[in-house]
Amino acid sequence: MKFESLNIIEPILKSLKEEGYTIPTPIQVQAIPIVLNGTDLIGCAQTGTGKTAAFAVPILQILSKNRAFDRKRKIRSLVVTPTRELAIQIEESFKAYGRHTSLKCTVVFGGVPQNPQVAALQNGVDILVATPGRLLDLMNQGYISLKDIEIFVLDEADRMLDMGFIHDVKRIIAALPQKRQSLFFSATMPPAIVKLAGSIVYKPVKVEVTPSASTVDIVNQYVYFTDKVNKSALLLELLKDEKIKTALVFTRTKFGADKVVKVLKKKNIIAESIHGNKTQNTRQRALSNFKAQKTRVLVATDIAARGIDVDDLEYVINYEIPNISETYVHRIGRTGRAGANGTAISFCDAEEMAYLKDIEKLITKKIQVIEDHPYPLLDLHPVKAPKQQHQNHNRPKSFAPKINRDNWKRR
Ligand code: AMP
Repeated sequence: MKFESLNIIEPILKSLKEEGYTIPTPIQVQAIPIVLNGTDLIGCAQTGTGKTAAFAVPILQILSKNRAFDRKRKIRSLVVTPTRELAIQIEESFKAYGRHTSLKCTVVFGGVPQNPQVAALQNGVDILVATPGRLLDLMNQGYISLKDIEIFVLDEADRMLDMGFIHDVKRIIAALPQKRQSLFFSATMPPAIVKLAGSIVYKPVKVEVTPSASTVDIVNQYVYFTDKVNKSALLLELLKDEKIKTALVFTRTKFGADKVVKVLKKKNIIAESIHGNKTQNTRQRALSNFKAQKTRVLVATDIAARGIDVDDLEYVINYEIPNISETYVHRIGRTGRAGANGTAISFCDAEEMAYLKDIEKLITKKIQVIEDHPYPLLDLHPVKAPKQQHQNHNRPKSFAPKINRDNWKRR
């Protein structure tokens, strides 16, 4: 199947070619005709599946077909997404796919001054990408009206709920015109999300790209069992491998992210962190440096990393195993994108074994264990104080049944 067979208009086909897209991804094959048909959609797909183009391409097509050139531009399509990074990336995608159309797109998000955003809005836009808080702010100040919205997209609905945006989302929906087309995307569909979807879409068609069909099968996944106290040493050991040009490292906490960066910097590895405590500009700069490979290691928390889209990212390292299994799938979805190679490495300590089990249940496969490494798990029953754990070198080997320490060859 080629993009040509999806009845996409020439100016958009041209930009897709320029982007290097030749074959539509499964979510694009399924969703584009439905959206072009004017039907509401529930898309169950995570980032990395090509879902942005699955909604952006048909929206651009619909809006450019009915564009009235004699009138001032009105916001005719609204995309609401939970994180700033994701919002910026979606806007970039609209601009890239729509570069040969006359449509204008802009993005609004919090954490930065609002004046440039207001100026862009006052110049007139057809498509607005927004995070919920700043959108409501600008609506309340009278800079944004949703009364002309023809197509509404709610992106990453599950994450939106996780981040506590439910009330904001409801207020946004209440301000939309009744007559509209709605597209609802979520990586997972727990009951609360199904309920939310029911309040937004009308007679929707559901399309689903399951994790097992995409990311989980493409990405090579490995787990290293190790003690918590040795994780930073293990990371440094892995980074001796020059094959790892760049790596995205996930930690559970902001504090943890900064700690890992400190350890890496001490060993002259160029590293930066992104998380909620950093300003928007610092986060954008860190991301640009990483994309340009000026930074070798980007350490991120889940929420900050949600929208990260780095072409050719080969390595994702789970410094800590997430306690929500779906988060694991989101994390490893940062690599192996659009058919590229991907490797996901997880460090698992004794306390995280239960999380690992849950993940394997979700992805319905066993993650390959790397036994041959210098920091095997010794402490199966860690006590709370980490310093004491480290000194406990005399445990019997039977505590680490699978791991063969002697096979490790130092490079
Ligand atoms: P998304 O799931 O929208 O975040 O997209 C994931 C990545 O796949 C992005 O880097 C896109 O640029 C890329 N992509 C999307 N659709 C295609 C396609 N049909 N062919 C090649 N790459 C694509």
